[in-house]
Amino acid sequence: MSDERSLNFLEEIIEQDIAEGNNNGRVHTRFPPEPNGYLHIGHATSICLNFGLAKRYNGKCNLRFDDTNPVTEETEYVESIKNDIKWLGFQWDNEFYASDYFQKLYDFAVELIKKGLAYVDDLSAEEIAATKGSTVAPGSDSPFRNRSIEENLQLFEAMRDGKYRDGEKTLRAKIDMAHPNLLMRDPLMYRIKHEHHHRTGDKWCIYPMYDYAHGQSDSIEEITHSICTLEFIHHRPLYNWFIEQLGIFPSHQYEFARRNLTYTVMSKRKLLQLVNEQHVAGWDDPRMPTVSGMRRRGYPAEAIRQFSDTIGIAKRENIVDISMLEFCVREHLNKTTNRVMAVLDPVKLIITNYPEGQEDIFEAENNPEDPNGGTRPVPFSRELWIEREDFLENPPKKFFRLAPGNIVRLKSAYIVKCEGCNKDAHGNISEVLCTYLPESKSGNDTSGLSVKGTIHWVSVPHARTAEVRMYDRLFRVEDPSNEEGNFKDYINPDSINILPSVYIEPELAKAKPGDKVQFMRKGYFCADTESTAGKLIFNRTVTLKDAWAKEVRKS
Ligand code: ATP
Ligand code: MG
Repeated sequence: MSDERSLNFLEEIIEQDIAEGNNNGRVHTRFPPEPNGYLHIGHATSICLNFGLAKRYNGKCNLRFDDTNPVTEETEYVESIKNDIKWLGFQWDNEFYASDYFQKLYDFAVELIKKGLAYVDDLSAEEIAATKGSTVAPGSDSPFRNRSIEENLQLFEAMRDGKYRDGEKTLRAKIDMAHPNLLMRDPLMYRIKHEHHHRTGDKWCIYPMYDYAHGQSDSIEEITHSICTLEFIHHRPLYNWFIEQLGIFPSHQYEFARRNLTYTVMSKRKLLQLVNEQHVAGWDDPRMPTVSGMRRRGYPAEAIRQFSDTIGIAKRENIVDISMLEFCVREHLNKTTNRVMAVLDPVKLIITNYPEGQEDIFEAENNPEDPNGGTRPVPFSRELWIEREDFLENPPKKFFRLAPGNIVRLKSAYIVKCEGCNKDAHGNISEVLCTYLPESKSGNDTSGLSVKGTIHWVSVPHARTAEVRMYDRLFRVEDPSNEEGNFKDYINPDSINILPSVYIEPELAKAKPGDKVQFMRKGYFCADTESTAGKLIFNRTVTLKDAWAKEVRKS
């Protein structure tokens, strides 16, 4: 293969399969989400893996909704999942639903009953659990284990026909109640649930268990490499058992370690709690580790794909530092975004020797990293907004921004010399005073001066305003799920800070939802989905540097 990194273990397996002519050299993967929530970054890496392998080996990848549990699934989730996968840059070869296989799975079950390999059990869920045994003790046979094939066939049909209430009967595989692997001790295949299903409606009142449905679905689609996360490793013998007993297409399961990220939680159940209890504004809240949240926050899809490639796949559970993801985000935004000026915490600067009523229009370079990035007009006048922190009346040594007597370049404009400041009745600095050097115009500077500091600014009469949402990590500890107490106790109270009225340069008022920019010296920002021409809203995607890494070094 063309790229230089070494093969990961799945690629090694696939290349060996191809070399040995297994599956006629065919590679067919699938991504099988349960439509019970929005996709998160963990799913995104699984998508990159499954679709990426298919692409690399000229194979195919199916999207299969694993919708065997009628209770938690909703069409809204199906739509969001499809949207997220496309946004990540992938297109599935087939769109399937496990529920499409309900009849086929039922027929397979009948076949197993006929082979004496499945039976209807009257034990309750609790009784079944109590007779499972343990890792050191065998389980015990259900008194219903030796029902005749005829009776099982008739009871299973009655289950399907709705003759029993929820929980009254189950269908179990007849394997071995003393098997060293507890999952092989007569696992459940079907349970009764009188529930409406988002696709099959009320047609079925028995639903297959994951372990029974998944492998058979893979086999029906002739999936060659069924990749799942590590917690299913002990399910593999059962996955193989069903396929072997049925003599159907031999799909194979491979496991890799779940990918977790620091400073967040990743289980859909927990994310749902954050949404339902309104700790966040919704699934696509920019602080959420969901694909939709990251998109809204301004993460480029390329950055997520690069992140997934960079972390690779592991055989052991690990937690990836979120700064790795942020690094990928910065790298892409650095290459692709325009540098614009916005003043978040303003104080007025007056250029005392610049004539009142006069204005200059500067052509500012959009992106020094992109030779084709072009320029944009930026108006300049006697009064400018600058950041309050860029002026100090009594500066420490090596302060290269504005202080009485200092010279500084105003980005894309002139060099100014700081002459002092005015204060209000409370002694707060109300205006910074400067004089400018007309011969120091950017691009045509004949002043001969060299300045150590450059600051950004926005012309007061030309400024527009925007709401800016400064986001930080949603949790204040690395692994909230592993702390004492409830994960919600560790929510970062400062994960959002809204600046209602930030000054922005006028060109920026054209930003459309989803547009990404760098606010010079302040970070990367993205116009929010709720942003309109009348009310502009920007989300902080990521800071320019990793502020948290510095924090850690300091402490
Ligand atoms: P959750 O526990 O967050 O609800 P799940 O595994 O139940 O996740 P599914 O919809 O069943 O969610 O997952 C679809 C696919 O995504 C599965 O193949 C699963 O292995 C994979 N996946 C889910 N979470 C992660 C993760 N953190 N890292 C890598 N892959 C993941
Ligand atoms: Mg799952």
